[in-house]
Amino acid sequence: AVALPQAAAQLIGVLNAAGHAAYAVGGCVRDSLLGRTPKDWDICTDALPEQVMAAFQAYRVLPTGLKHGTVTVFAEGEGYEITTFRKEAGYSDHRHPDAVAFVSALREDLARRDFTMNAMAYHPQEGLKDYFGGVADLRCGTIRCVGQPAWRFEEDALRMMRALRFAAVYGFTIEAETARAIHACRRLLSCVAPERLRAELDALLCGAAVEKVLLAFPDVIFTLIPELAMAQGFNQHNRYHAYDVWTHTVKSVAAAPQDITLRLTMLLHDVGKPLCFTRDASGVGHFYGHPAAGAQLARGIFARLRYDRATAMQVERLVEQHCRELPPRDKPMRRALNRLGEVGVRQLLAVKRADIKAQAPAVTEERLLTLCQVERCLDEVLAQGACFTLKDLAVSGKDLLELGMQPGPDVGKTLKALLEDVLDGRLENEYEALLETVKKATE
Ligand code: ATP
Ligand code: MG
Repeated sequence: AVALPQAAAQLIGVLNAAGHAAYAVGGCVRDSLLGRTPKDWDICTDALPEQVMAAFQAYRVLPTGLKHGTVTVFAEGEGYEITTFRKEAGYSDHRHPDAVAFVSALREDLARRDFTMNAMAYHPQEGLKDYFGGVADLRCGTIRCVGQPAWRFEEDALRMMRALRFAAVYGFTIEAETARAIHACRRLLSCVAPERLRAELDALLCGAAVEKVLLAFPDVIFTLIPELAMAQGFNQHNRYHAYDVWTHTVKSVAAAPQDITLRLTMLLHDVGKPLCFTRDASGVGHFYGHPAAGAQLARGIFARLRYDRATAMQVERLVEQHCRELPPRDKPMRRALNRLGEVGVRQLLAVKRADIKAQAPAVTEERLLTLCQVERCLDEVLAQGACFTLKDLAVSGKDLLELGMQPGPDVGKTLKALLEDVLDGRLENEYEALLETVKKATE
C-alpha cells in the first residue's frame, strides 16, 4: 500500500476540486511500496503551471521551474513539487530534452520516466496507476527501462548511472536487455555533467549491494575512471592476495563501512599499483611507491569529477598512507595522531581492515587481530589525554615570549622541537618540564 501523507492527499484534493487530474508519482510511490520512507512526495497533474498557481492561491507557492512545468506548493510546512504532465523530445546532447511539451494523459507522462519502478502514480481514491509493470518488477527486484533501453540511454545517458545506483542501493538486478544496453551505450556518459555523475557514483559506492554492481559493470566504472581499467586482471604477485587488483579493489569497497570517504578510498587505494610494478633480480614482483602514485592519480580523478576539496584531500591522504605500518605502540600512535588526527587514524584503521578483508582468507584472521591491538592502543593513547599537535602542547608561543624570547620564526621552531620531543616520549607534556628545556637550550 502507498502511505500518502495527509498534506499530499490534500493538495491532490485541491487540484481535483478545481477539475484537474493529480497523482503522487515517481520515487515516492516506489519507496512507499518498498516500505521505505520517501525523501519527498512529487505530484503530477494535467493542470498547466498557471492553473496550478491559480488553484493554490491560499497557499505559499514558489514557481520553481515554470519552463518545465514545476511549481512548489507548501502544505503543513513541507514543499511539494507539482509538475504538469509532459513528454520530452529531441535529446541531441544525450542528456537534456530539446523541448518539453505538456500533455493531458497520465500515461504519456509516465512513459517518459526512466524505469518501470519509477513510472507509477498513485491516487488516494483511484489507487495505483501502473501501466508498465512496475509493481511486478519491484516484487522481483528488477530494474527495467520503460521502452527500448538503448533509446532511453541515448536520450539521457545519466539514466545508466541511475540504474547502477538503484541496483547498488536497493540490491536489485538490472534486467538483461537493460544491462546489455548499458554496456553498449556507456561511452555516452562523457556527455553528462561531471557533478551529476559524481552524485550517482557516490550513492552507488555507498550502496549495500555495491560489490555485485562493480563486478557486473566494471566497464561503466572505467568510463568514468579510466585510471582503474589496468587493475582488471592485474596479478598481485603476492601470496596474501587471492584476487587480481580490480577484484580485490571491489571486495575492499564492499568490506568498508558505508561512508563516502572510506568507500572512495578503497576504490582508489590500489589505483597506482599497475603503474608501479617491477621485478627484482630474482624475478619477484614488487609495487614500489604505489600509494604515493595512487594519491597522485586520485588527485586528477577528483579534479575531473569535481569533488569537494575536503573529501578529495582526505581520500588522497588515506590512499597515500594505507600501506604504512601502524604498530600497536604509543610512540608510533602519537605520530599517526599528529599526522591524521583522531578521525583520520580511525579512518585509516577502517581502510586497513577493509583492505585485509579483501585479501586471501588464509592470512586475514591474524592480521585483523593485530588491527584490534592497534585500535586498543589508539584508545589508550587518547585516554592518556596525550599531546599530538602544537595546540595540545602545555606551553604556547606566549609562554616563550614571556620567558624573554624575541618574537619571530624561532618561537614556532622551538614549539615544533618541543612537540617532537613529546611525541617521541623524550619529554613529558608538562608546563614546567617544557619551560625548563627551553631555558636550558637558550642559556
Ligand atoms: P531518489 O530516491 O534519488 O529521489 P527518484 O527516482 O525519486 O530517486 P528523482 O531525481 O527524485 O529520483 O526523480 C523523480 C522521478 O522523476 C523519478 O522517479 C523518475 O520517474 C523521474 N526521473 C528522474 N530522473 C529521470 C531521468 N533521468 N530520466 C527519466 N526519468 C527520470
Ligand atoms: Mg526523488
